[in-house]
Amino acid sequence: MKQDYNVDAAGFYGVFGGAFVPEMLYPNVEELQNSYLTILQEKSFQKELQQLLEDYVGRPTPLYFAKRLSAHYGAKIYLKREDLCHTGAHKINNALGQILLAKKLNKTRIIAETGAGQHGVATATACALMGIECCIYMGAKDVERQAPNVARMKMLGATIIPVESGSKTLKDATNEAIRDWINNPVDTHYIIGSVVGPHPYPDMVARFQAIISKEIKNQLKGDPSHVIACIGGGSNAIGAFYHYLSNKAVQLVGVEAAGQGIHTAKTAATLTLGTQGIIHACMTTLLQDKDGQIIEPHSISAGLDYPGIGPQHAHLHQTKRVNYHSVTDQEALNAALFLSKNEGIIPALESAHALAYLNKMEIKPTDKIVINLSGRGDKDLETLTKNLL
Ligand SMILES: *Cc1c(COP(=O)(O)O)cnc(C)c1O
Repeated sequence: MKQDYNVDAAGFYGVFGGAFVPEMLYPNVEELQNSYLTILQEKSFQKELQQLLEDYVGRPTPLYFAKRLSAHYGAKIYLKREDLCHTGAHKINNALGQILLAKKLNKTRIIAETGAGQHGVATATACALMGIECCIYMGAKDVERQAPNVARMKMLGATIIPVESGSKTLKDATNEAIRDWINNPVDTHYIIGSVVGPHPYPDMVARFQAIISKEIKNQLKGDPSHVIACIGGGSNAIGAFYHYLSNKAVQLVGVEAAGQGIHTAKTAATLTLGTQGIIHACMTTLLQDKDGQIIEPHSISAGLDYPGIGPQHAHLHQTKRVNYHSVTDQEALNAALFLSKNEGIIPALESAHALAYLNKMEIKPTDKIVINLSGRGDKDLETLTKNLL
């Protein structure tokens, strides 16, 4: 087993990963597989990306020593402030990386799918910045539910395509985006928003998000005792863990959404409850019934409401390098209120899952805990106030 827990030459992490794509899609995926590492390592690519991360995104994001949180829990607690990134979350790190890659591949058109709209907004932002055509597939139900993000994407010049098939949500939008990519293999790049999908996406997105742990290493004196991050598809978590994976002195903790509880049907705790199978063209762990049908997940936070998980996390779970836990909707809501009132930072509901884990872990006074604050809570204000105030 590989010690650094990264992808092998065939695109696998142990038994997980791979590229189980229909034959029609194979040329698109193969082009990426053959080119991504070379392009990512080009000096001109790295230079342009670094510059954008600094001047446009606002990196490095601060590693903030949370004094009152630390006093409350009796340990040193630091927040990695991805909430301060342009557009309000870590997703822009990946969107910018992929759009520069698309330019190197002479692509003139970008497609993406989005559920809650966060990835759609990051993608539309990157496209506006580069002057590239942007097409966002979104379930018709989600278009209705996520009006503010739909408005943002329109302001940014993206075309929104409401998908009326199936349950009119994320998985239907994904199907339509894949169909589009099959029909436009030459000029179009498909930007996937997390460490999911066929190889090389999980590794490519991980490399773009790895900037998070690279910065933490520079910002923190010595090793943290723990790095804690929430998990939807798993990209902010992999980013926060990446440069610590081979350092066993650092405990890595991934926090899934338990929704209304892991003993209820309304949950998104994939690693706690899921089994091995294929979703979105990769072998991983997912919520499925006896017949292999995907079970609709539930979480109060739209970004964690995903029935699968990135294949690297499935592998890190199996090899026990990372410990995975789950936190309920209510626990996340309480943690969001606590951080708001005690540090003056309103977190995204996704990030609040990572914060809530502080109440469940055994904390020693010598602990140095880093929490990846993946995003800000502006988008969740309605949910937060409705449930808390
Ligand atoms: C999308 C999102 C997530 C979940 O995605 P990952 O790929 O698991 O990081 C977490 N936090 C925020 C703020 C998000 O927007």
